[in-house]
Amino acid sequence: MLELTVRQVRMGQVAADKASALRLVAQALHEDGWVSPGYLDGLQAREAQGSTFLGQGIAIPHGTPQTRDQVLSTGVCLLQFPEGVEWGPDQQVYLAIGIAAESDEHLHLLQILTRALGETDLAEALRQADSAEALVQVLHASPEALRLDPGLIGLGEAAEDFDELVWRGARLLRRGGCVDNGFAAVLQQVEALPLGEGLWWLHSEQQVRQPGLAFVTPARPLRHLGQPLLGLFCLASRGEAHRALLERLCEVLIAGHGQALGLAQDRQQVMQALGGEALPDWPTAQVRLANAHGLHARPAQQLAQLAKGFDGEIRVRLEDGPAVSAKSLSKLLSLGARAGQMLEFLAEPGIAAEALPALVAAVAQGLGEAVEALAALPGVLAVAACAASLSAPQVGQVLPAIVAAPGFAMGPVYAPRPPIFDFPLRGASDLEERQALQRALDQVRGDLQGLIARSEAEAIRAIFATHLEMLEDPALLEEAHRGIAQGQSAAAAWGEVVEAAALHQASLGDALLAERAADLRDLGRRVLAELCGLGQTAEPEQPYILVMDEVGPSDVARLDPRRVAGILTARGGATAHSAIVARALGIPALVGAGPLVLQLNTGDSVLLDGQRGRWVFQPDAQTLAQAERARERRASLLQSAMAQRFEPARTLDGHRLEVCANLGDSADAVRAVELGAEGVGLLRTEFLFMAHAQAPDLAIQEAHYRQVFDGLQGRPLVVRTLDVGGDKPLPYWPIPVEANPYLGLRGIRLCLQRPELLETQLRALLRAADNRPLRIMFPMVGGLDEWRQARDMVLRLRAEIPLQDLQLGIMVEVPSAALLAHQLAREVDFFSIGTNDLTQYCLAIDRDHPILSAQADGLHPAVLQLIDMTVRAAHAQGKWVGVCGELAADPLAVPLLVGLGVDELSLAIPGIAEVKARIRTLNLAACQGLARRALGLENAAAVRTLVEEQG
Ligand code: PEP
Ligand code: MG
Repeated sequence: MLELTVRQVRMGQVAADKASALRLVAQALHEDGWVSPGYLDGLQAREAQGSTFLGQGIAIPHGTPQTRDQVLSTGVCLLQFPEGVEWGPDQQVYLAIGIAAESDEHLHLLQILTRALGETDLAEALRQADSAEALVQVLHASPEALRLDPGLIGLGEAAEDFDELVWRGARLLRRGGCVDNGFAAVLQQVEALPLGEGLWWLHSEQQVRQPGLAFVTPARPLRHLGQPLLGLFCLASRGEAHRALLERLCEVLIAGHGQALGLAQDRQQVMQALGGEALPDWPTAQVRLANAHGLHARPAQQLAQLAKGFDGEIRVRLEDGPAVSAKSLSKLLSLGARAGQMLEFLAEPGIAAEALPALVAAVAQGLGEAVEALAALPGVLAVAACAASLSAPQVGQVLPAIVAAPGFAMGPVYAPRPPIFDFPLRGASDLEERQALQRALDQVRGDLQGLIARSEAEAIRAIFATHLEMLEDPALLEEAHRGIAQGQSAAAAWGEVVEAAALHQASLGDALLAERAADLRDLGRRVLAELCGLGQTAEPEQPYILVMDEVGPSDVARLDPRRVAGILTARGGATAHSAIVARALGIPALVGAGPLVLQLNTGDSVLLDGQRGRWVFQPDAQTLAQAERARERRASLLQSAMAQRFEPARTLDGHRLEVCANLGDSADAVRAVELGAEGVGLLRTEFLFMAHAQAPDLAIQEAHYRQVFDGLQGRPLVVRTLDVGGDKPLPYWPIPVEANPYLGLRGIRLCLQRPELLETQLRALLRAADNRPLRIMFPMVGGLDEWRQARDMVLRLRAEIPLQDLQLGIMVEVPSAALLAHQLAREVDFFSIGTNDLTQYCLAIDRDHPILSAQADGLHPAVLQLIDMTVRAAHAQGKWVGVCGELAADPLAVPLLVGLGVDELSLAIPGIAEVKARIRTLNLAACQGLARRALGLENAAAVRTLVEEQG
């Protein structure tokens, strides 16, 4: 990293004017080996574009992007001009800092300088400095402020012990740019100081770049050295920067509010308690910085100029970082913002409507520099397009999102937000607290009974019935009364008792009981909400649009499709597991819509267009009527598709494809057939394993597989052997924590480590088949060795349990399998392409990544190339190929998959009839032409446009 040191300083320079000064700077940079002589042209060209005067007697001459090839290595030199040089009108320079930068390494240097710029008489001090040491000291002398901002606060961190919590705190400091990598190790060596009330303190000056304080709390209460551990402060300390904070913290502890910090649910709450700067509640807008070399002086200057044009306060911050004035060049530089980082602007309400879009547009356009539009990436386009708008969407605004499950949905928003509980720890009187608790329990009981009576779905009734049972548990009430008798408030006693009970459940090592722990906490929160006077946000009575940051698969699975008209999320992508569940439930879902959706409030009305990937905020009557018509058109198309669901799917020119169902639940086989499936193309057996507290034995598995065969009435069943590990752990099969679970022990890799488990599954399958058509495929096969090991196991078992109609194949979801398809095709009976994982591994984008997964588009030409390769290799050996990833259900992908020669499509049951109908509208020869063209395109967006226009 660039630092300012005495070796870089040249004292007592004299220059008659700026041109001579620039010559001296260029010469110095050349002599020190940083640049070629031609760099002077760059310095001059840069000054011609705008002065590099920074303020306080300092200029930072540097080159332009065109002269970057003259930079030999990144470095700086400092030239003192005691007599001053006129850099521009009213711009007297005493110190010129010549910068040769290959990329954005000099941003840190600018951060140091901008701290110094806060000093009032810096120019004079620089002029008078009589040694290199003195000069460097002047630049470093300004006191550094302690960083304390929401980005350094981590509440409810997953930590099992003190060391893990230390690591989490150190990680926040490292991410915030306060410390280097080794800081966690440094802290582990330091003796922790108990502050009382469950709070602990650690600090060190080693590996510190900038003083900062992190505060972390564990998800569940821990103990350290025999004392409670509710929260930990990790201080990256330098000088006296933390003095004021420490004094403030002492006050908090003396006032007895320490425990509230440990129990805080909200980062702003912690900030306020510690005297950190809370963010004003102003409208915001976000935009990603696209400038290749970050927010360096020139773009920062432009930004400050633009901000100054508005008559009101504007602040800007990096994600979760402190907000600084957008009108101050030095403050902007002090952000040290790099390419790709998200800037968030906050503007006073009076100017926000005008200022925010202008600032966002200016940043998106590069602030005077040519930028590679980040928005060229389709996923980012969706997010950026939303982020570029005001924090609250405008009435009637149409916004983009990624389609996770098709269909139209309209209705009121339901945006559940985690409540913030604020309660006294000590109670009033024993009697009053007991009564308060009883009132809250009665209220919740009544609510639950009402919910049970209203819910039509059995699964949902069952969840609330369990909650009711838990609420009646006398042990909970007894424990809470004991706490109250010891002086606790009703809320504090109840919260503690519930958490302890949940911890106990979770520690029993049983998956089902662990789930109950989540239910217990859920119930505990309901009661706490009553005690804190927060009540429950009522779910709208009519079907609603669920709006959340992100929904997990289990959240979606619990939804009642009759109640939830649609789902809209800020994050996520089309192949995320939650999207798969939404599609299986047939709930229209849009994901990856960006942070703007988090501004929606319960009761707002929205329209989801899951055909075109758009949503509309507060749609007017005309838009709603149009959507209604589109929905009716789609409904009538679906109706005719349903009428023909048992017909084979044949293109107009007679080419036949099989359309099968993806199943997670054995009981769904009958429904699949009823809705037109010609077989099961993917039975995800992991759900059977997940539904049991221990690995299901041979008899249980056989019964389940039999149920599927029976439901299929002779149609073929393609079963995927157990695909767990990585992102899909089994509670009873512990796997050591992995840094990259998607690249770790997953699928067949894991099963081959426990062959007895795989063998039981294979036996159960062969026995259940009873000479019905069984196809077995292995997940995550990367090459021939894994395939052969798995195949040999089946062949050995088949000698024992004979079966006529058996085919063995692999899922093609690791790029190496597609690349080795020629070799594999000689040995397998079939391939089934898992485009979800194939896309993830081909594009190196985590399919569940909160931001990037929106870009994991299986229509990327690189993924299409792998599909093409696989199909060609298979057909050359007379083998068949299916696609069982989510791409098979994507209306735009279907013509391409037909054109690439795929023989079978397997998808979630609700889409089967529609995909069959779509195939009947296609012409094979045209699809082949379309596929050839798609293979030659540059990105997924271009492929989508091609199909939209010509498919
Ligand atoms: C796939 O990866 O495309 C696939 C079908 O498997 P899963 O989504 O279950 O990982
Ligand atoms: Mg997969």
